[in-house]
Amino acid sequence: MKIAVFSSKSYDREFLNEANNRHRNELTYFETKLTETTAPLAEGFPVVVAFVNDILDAAVLEHLKAGGTRLIALRSAGFNHVDLKGAERLGLTVVRVPAYSPDGVAEHTVALILALNRKIHRAYNRVREGNFSLEGLIGFTLRDRTAGIVGTGKIGLAVAKILSGFGCRILAYDVAPNPSCQEFGTEYVTLPELFSKSDIISLHCPLTPDTRHLIDKESISGMKTGVMLINTSRGALVDTTAVIGALKSGKLGHLGLDVYEEEGDLFFENLSEEIIRDDEFMRLLTFPNVLITGHQAFLTHEALRAIASTTLDNIAAFAEGRASGNELRASDLTG
Ligand code: NAD
Repeated sequence: MKIAVFSSKSYDREFLNEANNRHRNELTYFETKLTETTAPLAEGFPVVVAFVNDILDAAVLEHLKAGGTRLIALRSAGFNHVDLKGAERLGLTVVRVPAYSPDGVAEHTVALILALNRKIHRAYNRVREGNFSLEGLIGFTLRDRTAGIVGTGKIGLAVAKILSGFGCRILAYDVAPNPSCQEFGTEYVTLPELFSKSDIISLHCPLTPDTRHLIDKESISGMKTGVMLINTSRGALVDTTAVIGALKSGKLGHLGLDVYEEEGDLFFENLSEEIIRDDEFMRLLTFPNVLITGHQAFLTHEALRAIASTTLDNIAAFAEGRASGNELRASDLTG
């Protein structure tokens, strides 16, 4: 199959090339993001492989269809960036990688919690400058603290298990509770109860019309003062303006983000020589109790290998006229 791979970085190429030894597809890599402007690059490619910040709205899908594309293979689990109704209308098949390394994402989530709590990011800079003062570096013991997990699917479950191992009490909210979570004592509660009782809140539900700005001024007002909020799911679960207000007032004690509402214009690129024009993002960076990573929770050898392997297996199934089981339908858009 002739495959156009968008938003491809060196690490994507390495693992896709390795997985392709089993398949022998013709892979063409484009480092650029898929947008309406770059969509013509896909002309003549029956398969387009895309990532989380590629644009797959109605206009781009029309371009792809006109250029002969029949399959869109996402290298991600999340599919909030795809106009699934548009794809269905155009007869384009969309597949994804539903799970590649939930443990890897969960471990990064916990890394953010630990680093923020024990101020590792600040200590690292201080020690490098010969500043061994401990002022302002006081953390808290995780044991007996309450962690609230919103969304207890594959990743939320893994986070809950790790935090349970630290001795945290685990509260959870999910539209479909996960029996595996209850096995180690997780208590399912309402969302307002989770917000009001948790010392740490970690988001692991998908971005849907229902969950957009789940964290806003109102939900923050129901949280404990000094709460730690972690988002490694999707940026738009959090209203950035509201969290900036809460950081300024001290209501929010710590904020850890691996995803950001407007990350499409920033993440995955080296912008160190440029002026970043997103004032809200730059404001977030000024807080000492905010730690941001650039959508790297998935970035492990194991996950990249699994993403590449499942993506090419999905494509092989399509080429052979079989279902891979990873097809997305417009009805998957909940909320
Ligand atoms: P999953 O489908 O296994 O779990 C999602 C859970 O959210 C399910 O249990 C579902 O019932 C629940 N849910 C759905 N709607 C909800 C709502 N309104 N309120 C509360 N819960 C709700 O998905 P997963 O593999 O655990 O991934 C979770 C999210 O993590 C994905 O949606 C994706 O956006 C994100 N993700 C981020 C990275 C990263 O690198 N930062 C990597 C992989 C996945």
